[in-house]
Amino acid sequence: MKFVYFFGAGKAEGSAKMRDLLGGKGANLAEMMNLGFPVPPGFTLSTKACLMYYEARKKFPAGLMEQIQVNLKRLESVMGKRFGSPANPLLVSVRSGAAISMPGMMDTILNLGLNDHTVLGLIKKSGNPRFAFDAYRRFIQMFGNVVLHVDHGEFERIIVEKKRDTHVTSDAELNQEALQGLVVAFKQLIHRVTGQEFPEDPLVQLKSAIEAVFASWNNERAITYRNLNHIPHHLGTGVNVQAMVFGNLGVDSGTGVVFTRDPRTGERRLYGEFLLNAQGEDVVAGIRTPEPVVHLKEACPQAYAQLINLCQKLERHYRDMQDIEFTVEAQRLYLLQTRSGARTAHAAIRIAVEMVKEKLIDQKTALLRVEPAQLDQLLHPTIDPKERLPVIAKGLPASPGAAVGVAVFDAHRAIQLAEDGRPVVLVRAETSPEDVGGMAVAQGILTARGGMTSHAAVVGRGMGKPCVVGCTEISVDEHQRVFSVNGQTIREGEYLTLDGTTGAVMKGQAKLIEPRMASEFKILMGWADSTRRLRVRTNADTPHDATVARGFGAEGIGLCRTEHMFFGPERLPHVRAMIMAKDTPERQAALARLLPMQKSDFKAIFKVMKGLPVTIRLLDPPLHEFLPHTEEEVQKVAAQLGVSPKEIRAKAENLKEFNPMLGHRGCRLGLAFPEINVMQVRAIFEAACELWKEGQRVIPEVMVPLVGHVNEFKVTRAKIVEVAGSVMRRYKVKLPYLVGTMIEIPRAALTAKEIAREAEFFSFGTNDLTQMTFGFSRDDAGKFLPIYLKEGILERDPFVTLDVSGVGQLIQIAVHQGRSARPSLKVGICGEHGGDPASIEFCHRAGLDYVSCSPYRVPIARLAAAQAVLKEKRVKKKVPLRRDSPR
Ligand code: PEP
Ligand code: MG
Repeated sequence: MKFVYFFGAGKAEGSAKMRDLLGGKGANLAEMMNLGFPVPPGFTLSTKACLMYYEARKKFPAGLMEQIQVNLKRLESVMGKRFGSPANPLLVSVRSGAAISMPGMMDTILNLGLNDHTVLGLIKKSGNPRFAFDAYRRFIQMFGNVVLHVDHGEFERIIVEKKRDTHVTSDAELNQEALQGLVVAFKQLIHRVTGQEFPEDPLVQLKSAIEAVFASWNNERAITYRNLNHIPHHLGTGVNVQAMVFGNLGVDSGTGVVFTRDPRTGERRLYGEFLLNAQGEDVVAGIRTPEPVVHLKEACPQAYAQLINLCQKLERHYRDMQDIEFTVEAQRLYLLQTRSGARTAHAAIRIAVEMVKEKLIDQKTALLRVEPAQLDQLLHPTIDPKERLPVIAKGLPASPGAAVGVAVFDAHRAIQLAEDGRPVVLVRAETSPEDVGGMAVAQGILTARGGMTSHAAVVGRGMGKPCVVGCTEISVDEHQRVFSVNGQTIREGEYLTLDGTTGAVMKGQAKLIEPRMASEFKILMGWADSTRRLRVRTNADTPHDATVARGFGAEGIGLCRTEHMFFGPERLPHVRAMIMAKDTPERQAALARLLPMQKSDFKAIFKVMKGLPVTIRLLDPPLHEFLPHTEEEVQKVAAQLGVSPKEIRAKAENLKEFNPMLGHRGCRLGLAFPEINVMQVRAIFEAACELWKEGQRVIPEVMVPLVGHVNEFKVTRAKIVEVAGSVMRRYKVKLPYLVGTMIEIPRAALTAKEIAREAEFFSFGTNDLTQMTFGFSRDDAGKFLPIYLKEGILERDPFVTLDVSGVGQLIQIAVHQGRSARPSLKVGICGEHGGDPASIEFCHRAGLDYVSCSPYRVPIARLAAAQAVLKEKRVKKKVPLRRDSPR
């Protein structure tokens, strides 16, 4: 079996197409060699060799060492040098390179091949003993650390001592004698720590270095990086053994990194930096400050001109912005690596759109070049990257964007302070629907408990508020109005900054940067719209949310949660009176007082949506959520309603449930108290009829929550149709409307055929469907899901990304069965997954008609829906997806 692929003398055995086998670095080195670019020759050990090494319990597969030696000979002959020669030694670098770029996660060794003899040859050839000993001590240091696992700090300590003894401040000032001293001291250190001599035999050095790079595929940080970026663990890494070129040969040498476009803005200009007289790790280590790449023009004018030229060629060849590593050795330029460069969302969009204009790529490719999730960066204010506030805690990044405000610990106080014009951050152990008013005025929300679909997370996203939830490190004392974290106490009124994109909680007031929507964004979105099949709707409960969502391109409302209209100081008393009612007439009287308010809400929303479909869900949460919790509130409410506090406590006790998510909620409420549904349906249809009479088209879709059995739906539907009919008769208006159901209980999915005979649409409530399929409480999963993810028990949080094999199967069954009973059945999704790109791809494949998500995720959904079409076509054509696009 062939394990080793040579590149040298203008020809390579590999190519860019062989990324899976050779890793990204190896494949691109081969490609550049074939293009005739100045690449130091070398050879690549395949990822297959790495995998077989692991299979054989960390032994080289048969034939690998022989192939290495054969290729080493080829390299010697191309270079005119010999490995281990004391007269003219060949030195090599040994570098990792997986199929998917994992920057900085695995190991590298430079200057390999040096020992007490070959260093003399390097002195002779370079005529520069200081350089030679510098290379030698660097090699021992890297080898000692990476291969022999001697702590990096121990080497650094010796360097610090040496600088002190020789009265210099920087490494660059150490003279030849000092460096020679370091070589000896490093070798002694290695002997002391490992009990072994530093290996002088270059072949032993090479073999151990290759093994160390293989092993680094499974070091802790590489595993963590793969988990975070959803990179499979079974790919293995390639190993590149390449002839050394030296950027530290003098002041006409140097090394650097350059991007073919500005990775921050996307501007078409060379962006990068370099260090004169340095080796690669100096740039990474940050010991010296690199200079902008244009300054290379002064020190090495020819190399600079050539670099510009080659950068342009590489970008045209790969048709993407490249991130290129280079070295100049005594005025001669070498390219050491090229790959697609990581970029901000702004840059990704600008580069994609401009490359279409430049005819480098087509629109489809441009659409695939932008990560939908990255668009979040564009839609919310972000923290100024120069900001250096201390991070005091980290929670789950539930709703993106940055928020700055003073800490407050309850919704009332939040409203008071906000009315005084102070920015607030609402801090709660967890939020309940009662906090909605406080959330609405807050800049951001922080909770100690709850997961990605907890109340705070869902509402925060809906409102576009930055939100950090499940921040278990903090302990909140709402009575004392403080929270403590790692020995610090934060009191009401102290400034906090939240980063809802990373989950970081900072003390103090960070500077924020407002989002800018470039014209390229609109162009790209236009292309997405003409490509996608899925419609994109929004989850919106207020005219404001609906307006924001329309601005982002929403094509309807997929979920209007009416319970959010039951809160607020004007409404809550009537809702509570309705709950406390002793009989039906009393309940109806309270509901009658709510009716005009509900009606005006619906009217306002219908107006914003201008004839687009609006799905309104009947009341869903258990009634106890509307009752007061604290004794103080109980007293207040009792006085307001003219009942005794005891009666309120008794009612609350009566409504208490062991498991409210499985309790008296959803359609079960309307079945027990039909008058609630009657009021809501009247409000919907009176609003619609009045607008219809004014000449505005309205298409209401009435949605029943939490149906598990067709009979629940049948009874509810009959009432809806009766009330809708009577309202329309009264107004003498006949408007089109639909009655449908949420599918959020596994039984509903399994009996979808029966339900679809009655229901005109399905909307998957995947928050509850995930909760009920896994049996994970969506509000308590924050306690154990992080462990599941860390341990790899689950690859992804199922409340964020749809669990395709379980929940997805229920969706497929329901779609199939539902359409078999009613071919015209409209099917959508309104759980949080409706805004998650991977879940949207599944929804496309499952044949849904639309996804519905919070307003700020509408652009993400539009792009993800377009990508789903393009990816499906590629799969059909069996064209492999790009693997090197920035993550
Ligand atoms: C759902 O369960 O997915 C849903 C949209 O409803 P809610 O989040 O309001 O329970
Ligand atoms: Mg639900």
